[in-house]
Amino acid sequence: MLGGPPAFPDRLPFFRPAKPPLDAVTARLAPSYDKGMLTNSALVRELEQAAARRLDVPHVVAVASCTTGLMLVTQALTSRGDTALMPSFTFSATAHAAVWAGAVPRFAECDVLSCQLDVDDAAKRLDGVALLVATHVFGAPCRPEAVEALAAESGIPVLFDAAHAFGATRAGRPVGGFGDAEVFSMSPTKVLAAGEGGLVATRDPELAERLRLGRDYGNPGDYDTLFAGLNARLSELHAAVALCSLDELDDHLAIRRALAARYRAGLADVPGIAGQTVDVDDASTYKDLTVIVDESQFGVDRDGLVRALKAEGIDTRPYFWPPVHRQQAYAGLSDTSGVPEELPSTDWVSSRVVSLPLWRDMPPGAVETVVEVLARIHAHAEQMTAQEDPACVP
Ligand SMILES: *Cc1c(COP(=O)(O)O)cnc(C)c1O
Repeated sequence: MLGGPPAFPDRLPFFRPAKPPLDAVTARLAPSYDKGMLTNSALVRELEQAAARRLDVPHVVAVASCTTGLMLVTQALTSRGDTALMPSFTFSATAHAAVWAGAVPRFAECDVLSCQLDVDDAAKRLDGVALLVATHVFGAPCRPEAVEALAAESGIPVLFDAAHAFGATRAGRPVGGFGDAEVFSMSPTKVLAAGEGGLVATRDPELAERLRLGRDYGNPGDYDTLFAGLNARLSELHAAVALCSLDELDDHLAIRRALAARYRAGLADVPGIAGQTVDVDDASTYKDLTVIVDESQFGVDRDGLVRALKAEGIDTRPYFWPPVHRQQAYAGLSDTSGVPEELPSTDWVSSRVVSLPLWRDMPPGAVETVVEVLARIHAHAEQMTAQEDPACVP
C-alpha cells in the first residue's frame, strides 16, 4: 500500500473448499452409479443416518440446498402471508427462503458483540409473528435456548438457519437439535461441503415426513400430490462427496479452531480489531473468522482496511454487508410491529465487519502474516489515510 512489496505476491485467497480425495468420492459413489441410481437413493439415506447420529437428532432430511430446506420448513410451519421474524444480520437466503414460502420477513437487531439475534429486540417485534428464525452466525451457536424460550412465550415455532454450523456445540450439545428444525448448508463455502446440498435436522417425525414429501414435489408416491412441493432432492453424487467430507469433519474442525485461536491470539494485540464473541462453553465451526473494525482505535475504517489488505494480496469478504434490510430486494418492506424499523446496531456492526481468510489447507504461517499486516496497517494508519485523501496527494 505504501510502496513496498506485497505480503502475498501470489495472493492469499479468501477461501478454498476442503475437498475430500477424489478417489474416495468415486469409490463411495460407484455402487449407486453402477446401478443407475443417481438421486435420493442409498447414499442419501446413509448420509441422513450418519448426520442424525452426529447431530444426535432422530430425523435428518437431505435436500438440494439449505435455501430449499428453509423454504420447505417455512412452508410447513406457516400459512401464506404470515410474518417470520429474523435477524437482518444474516445471509440473504434466510429471508429469501421465507419469501419463496409465502411468508413476509420482519427484521430484528443483532447483538454488537456476538453478532447474533438480539433476543430482547426480537421480543419487542413479536406482535403478529408466526415463525421465529435465528441464524447461528459464522458457525457460533446463537444462544438457541434463549430463542426457543422467546418463541415458547408466544407459542410460535422456531427455525434455525444453521447453514454455517455443522459441528458446532452449545455447552457440549450439538447444534441441530434445537427448535422445530435446524437447516445446514453443504455448498462449497460451508464447513461440511458436498458441492451443493442441505440437511434439515428435526425431532418432529411429522415435520420430517412432510419434508420428505416436500422435497419430491409433494408426491406421496401415487402422483396425487398433497401440496405444492419442490424438486429439492439431493443427488447421490453430492451425497458421496458429503459422506467423504463427513469422514474428515473432526480433523477439519480441529484445524479451523486452531487457525481461529491463532488469529484471536495475534489480533488481541491490535487496537480496534475485535473478534465475534463466542460463549465460553460453546464451540464454533469458524465458518468465518469475522472481525469488527473500530476506526477510532484502529485508525483506518473497514473499507480502508479492505483496500490495504487487497494491496498486500489478502482477499477478504464483508460478511454480512449490506445487512438484509438494506438490500434492494427488501427496499419496499415495512415493519408492521409498531417498533421503529431502524436497526442501528445492525447497521453499526454491518458497516464495520470484515471476514479474514480461514480455510483448512491454508499455507502454514499465513495467519501470522495476515495478523502482522493488520498490525502494520494500524501502525501506519495516519500515512495511509493521508495517502488516500486526494487533497494530500502531491
Ligand atoms: C449459505 C447460506 C445459506 C444458503 O445455503 P445454500 O445451501 O447455498 O442454499 C443460508 N443461510 C446462510 C446463513 C448461509 O450462509
